[in-house]
Amino acid sequence: MWSQRAVVDYGLARRATIQSIRSGHMEARDVCDAHPYLLRAARYHGEPTARICPICEQRNVTNVTYVYGDELGRLAGRVKATADLAEMAREYGEFRVYVVEVCQGCSWNHLAVSFVLGTGDPPGASV
Ligand SMILES: [Zn+2]
Repeated sequence: MWSQRAVVDYGLARRATIQSIRSGHMEARDVCDAHPYLLRAARYHGEPTARICPICEQRNVTNVTYVYGDELGRLAGRVKATADLAEMAREYGEFRVYVVEVCQGCSWNHLAVSFVLGTGDPPGASV
């Protein structure tokens, strides 16, 4: 089993953004600006959730999971399935995971959470 560490929950920032829109301080178009690449990633590699989009309230948001880390080489910045993370967590010493929620209806997108995974060993350490 793998454990998440250095977890950063962006829920507060997310709620603040949603509140700004509902109160009219921000326009929906200011936040519903998902890059075409992100929308494509959500469509083909995203994972469906049971959470309704907070902006359009028409569709459920999709989670897109990115991995970053010096050890990852060509994998850095790639979209991964949650199921792939367990294997990566055994294979690499340390990498950071970013989960972005995306609405494929209105293009709302917001960072949901990020955390660090890995064995905790320095790069190149023998097992
Ligand atoms: Zn939406």
